[in-house]
Amino acid sequence: MNKSRKYIFVTGGVLSGVGKGITAASIGAVLQAKGVSVSVQKCDPYLNVDAGLLNPKEHGECFVTKDGAETDLDLGHYERFLDLELTQKNATLSGRLLRDLIADERAGKFGGQTVQMVPHLTNSIKKAIHLAAEGDIHIVEIGGTVGDYEGLSFIEAIRGFALDVGRENCLFVHVVYVPFLEASHEYKTKPAQNALADLRGFGIMPDVVAVRTEGHDKPPRSIGEKIAISSGVRREGIIMMPNVDTVYEVPLTVYRDLGNLLSEFTGNTVKPDLQKWEYLAERDKTDYTKRVNIGLVAKYIDNSDTYLSVTEALKSAAWANKSEISIKWINAETASEADFASVDAIVVPGGFGTRGVEGKIVAAEYCLKHNKPYLGICLGLQVAVIAATRLGGVANASSEEFGADSSSNVVYIMDGQQGKESTGGTMRLGNYPAVLKAGSLASRLYAATNIIERHRHRYEVNQEFVQNIEDGGLIISGTSPDNKLVEFVEAPKCKYFIATQAHPEFRSRPFRPHPLFYGLIRTVIETK
Ligand code: GLN
Repeated sequence: MNKSRKYIFVTGGVLSGVGKGITAASIGAVLQAKGVSVSVQKCDPYLNVDAGLLNPKEHGECFVTKDGAETDLDLGHYERFLDLELTQKNATLSGRLLRDLIADERAGKFGGQTVQMVPHLTNSIKKAIHLAAEGDIHIVEIGGTVGDYEGLSFIEAIRGFALDVGRENCLFVHVVYVPFLEASHEYKTKPAQNALADLRGFGIMPDVVAVRTEGHDKPPRSIGEKIAISSGVRREGIIMMPNVDTVYEVPLTVYRDLGNLLSEFTGNTVKPDLQKWEYLAERDKTDYTKRVNIGLVAKYIDNSDTYLSVTEALKSAAWANKSEISIKWINAETASEADFASVDAIVVPGGFGTRGVEGKIVAAEYCLKHNKPYLGICLGLQVAVIAATRLGGVANASSEEFGADSSSNVVYIMDGQQGKESTGGTMRLGNYPAVLKAGSLASRLYAATNIIERHRHRYEVNQEFVQNIEDGGLIISGTSPDNKLVEFVEAPKCKYFIATQAHPEFRSRPFRPHPLFYGLIRTVIETK
């Protein structure tokens, strides 16, 4: 145990989904800007072993780490805000801990003891926190809201953890939602007060209350004061968090309201250098004259979180090109040529299953035929290859994933993946290297021929169709080092048509957009 390390615990009350992850990441960003090293971890109390099998419509994107962990989208926020590369140990789920605990019980490791939530599961949680803690400050976000059945062990674990490491080395941050009632035109703090009482009931007296409100106006100071008085939290511990235009403004909010308290807690009084965040916040207020319209052909169009890392990568690529971006969601099930024609470029992100896939193939075909900039990601590569193969003479080309006739499957299941289609944690996951063809668009964009990207797929391109693929206008511009798996394709005749079997969006950063996204926006601007 590192004696000088301090811990910040972020919990939530009233509602989930109001920005605990962004709050945790933003506190980390301010600390980093003071020169403090930060590590971060998400604890998810639900009983899944990982996020791989969760419905993205409900939970949003599944974020994949370099070591192949399928995690909650908050890890994406952490990576983007803190410019870290996280691993499995930064995502702690009840299901995983319980599975290991029960395996130990079966292996006879408890010597006759009764195995219980307290202390056995709580000890597993504490151990997982120690294991993930690396920085001077380790930030732990607990998913859900305090009081949820599944979360009780986690709340008890962090309460006990603070006793173990010293309460003075811990900062408890509770994120609450304060609704605004239109009828009486007032903010209502009662649910927040109750949520704080719940937390105190579990033995945790918070040091900070983050007050989330809707609308862009900062609620009156009296709201913060009322919460401070009713919860026994110091006024300096209250941070007001109205909506902001971009999440990248939140570190500025954190510094504005919590700067002094964070200096006090860390003993580090250095004024943080927040220039890069100020730049992003200001950028939002400058009117770029250039605007790019990007069409995202997708099936989960009613939850934009499903493609969060893709939209963040697109935004940062647009900002780096000094332009504003509009993202137009094109429903893959109803997509038409008019939709494709109405945007400057098309992105087909990752996806699974048959629904909407024809619309994605047609989108890729449209881009190939009309020289429209195209970026394909994972499934976006597979549909591009299907489109090219069809243009190259195999009219019914398809993928084994869509139940197509095997003789025309230009995309088929990878060796060793048969029979695992609905199982968790079995895809080709995480970092894998690729070798890019010298002189290809891919190699020019990366300015390298040996690259590494994160993956999450079960199917691959059948290279027996290479002639048809080429006849349809695509070349294979990157493969796995052993040449077996197609990693990149591109259309030499198009101004920008590139697709990768990987998920480059996970490595894009707000200040360092990924070259594939940057290149797409650059091309749109230069050729518009
Ligand atoms: N469904 C495809 C596969 O499993 C693509 C996966 C993805 O887009 N992440 O290979």
